[in-house]
Amino acid sequence: MNYTNSLIEQISFNNQKYFVKRDDLLHKDFSGNKARKFYYFLKNDFPKIKKVISFGSAQSNAMYSLSVLCKIKGWKFDYYVDHIASYLKENPIGNYKFAKEFGMNIIEAEVPKTFKNDELFISEGGAVSAASFGIEILANEIRTWAKENQIKNLKVFLPSGTGTTSLYLQKFLPFEVLTCSCVGDDEYLEKQFLALEKTNFPTILKKEKKYHFGKLYKELYEIHNELLNQTNIEFDLLYDSLGWLCFEKYVENFDKKDEFNFLYIHQGGLLGNISMKERYTYKYNS
Ligand SMILES: *Cc1c(COP(=O)(O)O)cnc(C)c1O
Repeated sequence: MNYTNSLIEQISFNNQKYFVKRDDLLHKDFSGNKARKFYYFLKNDFPKIKKVISFGSAQSNAMYSLSVLCKIKGWKFDYYVDHIASYLKENPIGNYKFAKEFGMNIIEAEVPKTFKNDELFISEGGAVSAASFGIEILANEIRTWAKENQIKNLKVFLPSGTGTTSLYLQKFLPFEVLTCSCVGDDEYLEKQFLALEKTNFPTILKKEKKYHFGKLYKELYEIHNELLNQTNIEFDLLYDSLGWLCFEKYVENFDKKDEFNFLYIHQGGLLGNISMKERYTYKYNS
């Protein structure tokens, strides 16, 4: 099992041709951009390490992928959260449910400030420089594909949370990488880039309005369903819906549209859709 080399498919969405890199299909349990970001920890030996410590939200994709990583590596996994909603405790679902099944020890407290020699601390969302290891491999897969298919003019798009994936992808790709901020605003995203690299940042596409991460918006649900209907691919509701809104608008208005190819990176995250879909159907279908 190598957890790399996802396929690239051609799709048509609203009569525009796109390519999609199916990182959602890397592996049944360990997929998407978290598999890329944590690949360094998967592939290398850490003889002293017995436990991973991280923190973030109780529904996070990174939390789930870390639980899988720890299971594979035989490490304990302590995950710190501010709060676990009581409905989630009573009815475990999605990332929370499966991370617990993979052995995550979830703790409602502040994350410790110091760590022991056998503990590996991974910051929220996997925003760590070690992520560049797996993302360089992703970039090389895209370069090889472009070369084999004689694609010279390519724009690559992927939505950002911490921005780690888009930043390192831009670092290792000879094509322009486009992104949009989904978790914080554009200033937050630029700060995140600056914390890891000095130059060569992805282009941040502007959004039509402000979106609060995790809140429900009718147009995000609609584009998700439209994508599913037209392409048969399920995209994530938290990042991809907003990503596609931004990317589609960019492509529509791009004056050299006919000379370029457009590649969307599917970064997984589908376990998070289970609870999002429940919330959306409750709000808009009842
Ligand atoms: C984590 C995640 C992102 C954001 O990745 P960053 O590297 O933090 O920008 C985007 N999409 C999905 C599905 C994710 O799980």
